[in-house]
Amino acid sequence: MRSVGPWKRGPEPCVRTKEGRPMKQFACGAVVPGCVATFKAPDEDGILSQVAAHAHHDHGLTEIPAELVAQVRAHIVAAPIAA
Ligand SMILES: [Zn+2]
Repeated sequence: MRSVGPWKRGPEPCVRTKEGRPMKQFACGAVVPGCVATFKAPDEDGILSQVAAHAHHDHGLTEIPAELVAQVRAHIVAAPIAA
């Protein structure tokens, strides 16, 4: 375990937006095994729009089914500092 300085105690360290809110992160590999794409945005909608573009260009999906959106939302996490 590395020291994370002032963030050692309390909630998990994460990247924050200028407004001080935790940045969100999503790793496509959580849903599509083998995919190494990751996305960061200040909110879920920002992530979802990036994922939609990525899914279209890299996975050939013309539209994102509701189940996939649900899976993506389920795997969105606070962006870790170390990333
Ligand atoms: Zn992907």
